[in-house]
Amino acid sequence: MNFLFSRVVFITQTLILSIVLSFSANAQDADEQLLLKHFHSISSEEIAGWMTELCSPEYNGRLAGTPEYLASAGWVAGMLHDWGIKPAGDNGSYFQWFDQPYTVVNDEGSLQLHITRKDGTDIVKSYRAPSEYYPGMNSGSGEVTAEVVYVGYGVTAPELNYDDYKGIDVKGKIVLMNRDVPYKDALNPEYAKWVRYCYHQYKVENAAQHGAAGMLYIDGNSANPNISYIENMIVCGIGPEPLADIFAGLGKTNTAVTGQIDKSFKPVSFATGKTMTIKANTTRHPEGRTCNVAGIIEGSEPVLKEEVIILGAHLDAVGNAGGILVQGGFDNASGVADIMAAAKALAGSGIKLKRTLLFLFFGGEETGLVGSKYYTANPIFHKEKTVTYINLDMVGNGTGLAVNASASCAPLMEYFKTANSKYIHRPMRSSASAVTYYGRPRSDGLVFLADGFRTMDISTTDGVKPVFYHLPGDDETAVTPEIMEDVAKLLYLSLIVMANAGMSGF
Ligand SMILES: [Zn+2]
Repeated sequence: MNFLFSRVVFITQTLILSIVLSFSANAQDADEQLLLKHFHSISSEEIAGWMTELCSPEYNGRLAGTPEYLASAGWVAGMLHDWGIKPAGDNGSYFQWFDQPYTVVNDEGSLQLHITRKDGTDIVKSYRAPSEYYPGMNSGSGEVTAEVVYVGYGVTAPELNYDDYKGIDVKGKIVLMNRDVPYKDALNPEYAKWVRYCYHQYKVENAAQHGAAGMLYIDGNSANPNISYIENMIVCGIGPEPLADIFAGLGKTNTAVTGQIDKSFKPVSFATGKTMTIKANTTRHPEGRTCNVAGIIEGSEPVLKEEVIILGAHLDAVGNAGGILVQGGFDNASGVADIMAAAKALAGSGIKLKRTLLFLFFGGEETGLVGSKYYTANPIFHKEKTVTYINLDMVGNGTGLAVNASASCAPLMEYFKTANSKYIHRPMRSSASAVTYYGRPRSDGLVFLADGFRTMDISTTDGVKPVFYHLPGDDETAVTPEIMEDVAKLLYLSLIVMANAGMSGF
């Protein structure tokens, strides 16, 4: 056991011992009145107002790298400032800056299938965005008309004796491929060998290396902004309708073919004989910079203030694809507003906190978890001083609450369970993940976990609103502000006790 690890274990044990003590010993305290006053100040109306602000057209879907995202970051920072939460970013500011090249999609572009009749004449079928195809959020600008070649998962892995491009000519063609890899069990260490081939970025680069001119990504039909940009590579995401048309008359389906590949680990790639046109109108901004927003409430106890509890949520969303605007309401203005409400109450209460609280709002989650990766590489507080990182992503739709923790900080879930049963009374699930995940991290929380942080996440359960994942419709109406109020209250109560545990209590 190294020093860092034993230090972390020590922090956990101290906190566990004090959980029960802190809640019960203080229950009759006069401080409870102060606690409850600010508990009741957290309101769903205020949260709903922030949701409307974050989803306003002014921020244009908060795509990381854009000036509109920065405007939203500025608004969040202004609120933190107004509440007396101190800046924790670069050079005394609220902002932690990093490079974020980005692509503006100027219009919807188009996707067409060319069908040659028996008499040799051509008919053209045009698809609709975003219901049938989604413009490639990082597509190169231009137009390609070519035969579509199916390449399974688009993976070339010589060390795994697997190559979707083997013996198949894709030069100047449009490649059609699936997400992920043939190996599916992300809880099996074997998956680690495949993980580098899961990334969208890898897939488009591999397609370009094989000379493809265009790429159709079987990715449902929703915005997928984190495919890396390659000039002249025209990309779009397709849903079931164009996929069915490409497979029509071939005597197979994508489901059957991928099933066969997954079973045998033998690629099945073929020219489809179908010709399509993809058009994309985009502007690349290689100079893009963006930021995380960081604010702190400093701890008041000389030793314990060095320890930090982090609340994090991504502030960015998937932006506006040439008029197809995704405001990022549930994903993830909800997590941002939950944390803002808790932060405002914590700062406003004046209740002294021994440990430090850090509020992080990430840029670039949707562009490849860039903001959380930047933080873990450039932490504001040392990892070994971080009690836990608590992630909130899509937390605001439903009637129930859930808390989940990595095995290393599972006992900390008691804070949330106790706060809920004492003051909130929502159905609440809790689970500790003892398993190791070998897949591609798909949330900021998993980035922290992969880097060795002890992590938790809070979520809402029993959704009552339809989810428009990365689609128009994910606006401020896609959430239930009442559950968001309770999430904020849960954070507020639990963090007060957690920040003060191990000493005399608040
Ligand atoms: Zn999200």
